[in-house]
Amino acid sequence: MALYVEKYGGTSVGSVERINAVADQIVRTKAAGHGLVVVVSAMSGETNRLLELAGEFAGQTATRELDVLLSTGEQVTIALLSMALIKRGCKARSYTGSQVHILTDNIHGKARILEIDDARVRNDLAENRVVVVAGFQGVDVDGNITTLGRGGSDTTAVALAAALQADECRIYTDVDGVYTSDPRIVPAAQRLEQITVEEMLEMASLGAKVLQIRAVEFAGKYHVPLRVLSSFEEGTGTLISFEERNMEEALISGIAFNRDEAKVTLVGVPDQPGVAFRVLGPIADAQINVDMIIQNVAEDGTTDLTFTVHRNEYEPAMKLLEQAKMELGAREITGDDNIAKISVVGVGMRSHSGVASTMFKTLAEEGINIQMISTSEIKISVVVDDRYLELAVRALHKAFGLDSEVAPAGTD
Ligand code: ADP
Ligand code: ASP
Ligand code: MG
Repeated sequence: MALYVEKYGGTSVGSVERINAVADQIVRTKAAGHGLVVVVSAMSGETNRLLELAGEFAGQTATRELDVLLSTGEQVTIALLSMALIKRGCKARSYTGSQVHILTDNIHGKARILEIDDARVRNDLAENRVVVVAGFQGVDVDGNITTLGRGGSDTTAVALAAALQADECRIYTDVDGVYTSDPRIVPAAQRLEQITVEEMLEMASLGAKVLQIRAVEFAGKYHVPLRVLSSFEEGTGTLISFEERNMEEALISGIAFNRDEAKVTLVGVPDQPGVAFRVLGPIADAQINVDMIIQNVAEDGTTDLTFTVHRNEYEPAMKLLEQAKMELGAREITGDDNIAKISVVGVGMRSHSGVASTMFKTLAEEGINIQMISTSEIKISVVVDDRYLELAVRALHKAFGLDSEVAPAGTD
């Protein structure tokens, strides 16, 4: 008798047929004698539809009311799935985030889970019920509904698994595991049997949306056994492991990328102590997160400073700097939101050199210009023109020996 927390993503519960298929699978696991807490996402496309709808009235800025709206997507699926289970003679009960009491902070749109009161869930489990919980949402101390950011149902599942000390948290999705790169972009990508938490953290934070980064953080912090699997076919998926990887294995575990960033450059700012602070201070005050930063070598007492921000925050960042341009003494402010960041990730990098040179050589051979570079212990990221993203990722995937012989099924 094991206790599993299972999460089904949007595509996995995207239609009546899919909800029925998920219900059948849950009934089978239950019949094998296991305890089950099931976290579901909104049906695929629903969160985007709600966001668009909100755009008709108030824009899409994260507010209390937007969270009230977005949380309804998941509320629909918990109810439907529970009905499907009950129809199959399986005892089930649905709960919203606030009902199971997933307590979060009050940062609407990207709230963090602070605490889970699991008494209600444990009661139901003791009564042999399947507990169906709405992902992506919680409640703050004042009773306001909050949401956890896109992909947040993963985090709900891992946090519940941690609180309940579940035997495994299983993230069921539309791919059969974590791949060396997004199989939709790289047909030759291969499924990984295992990936270390550390590598998965990098992959998630660098754009591999198969797991939300906070879910991986939770798994790491509370040692939650975490597995990514397909809800469409049988298989063992990918285990997020806590062991160090065998160093004999591939140098690079995966290639992540994102198109979510934009680049801002201040041309000709005085090269004096405090310049970076004067530029980035107001950006931070406006709650805009900065990712990569580059400052050029000074010429004629002035320098260029370039940094990247989330694409959603590109306009506000540009506006802020335009306003501060005179004060900063900048000659010009330029920007580009047609960029992509590509990152190679692998713990093997710690003990091997040459990863950067292979990366740069590969891009050079494809004629792709590198605009920015940043490195950490287990990753190297470059910013390139958006147009070359696919070409670059596929070329790097091949250059690092990650290509499989046969393309995985269903990803042509
Ligand atoms: P869900 O709705 O189930 O949460 P997501 O769309 O959030 O699913 O995440 C699954 C998707 O993540 C896959 O369809 C795939 O396109 C994408 N993805 C990106 N990088 C990877 C990767 N390295 N391995 C597997 N899938 C990836
Ligand atoms: N429904 C939310 C989203 O689309 C949360 C999730 O699916 O994890 O981002
Ligand atoms: Mg997801």
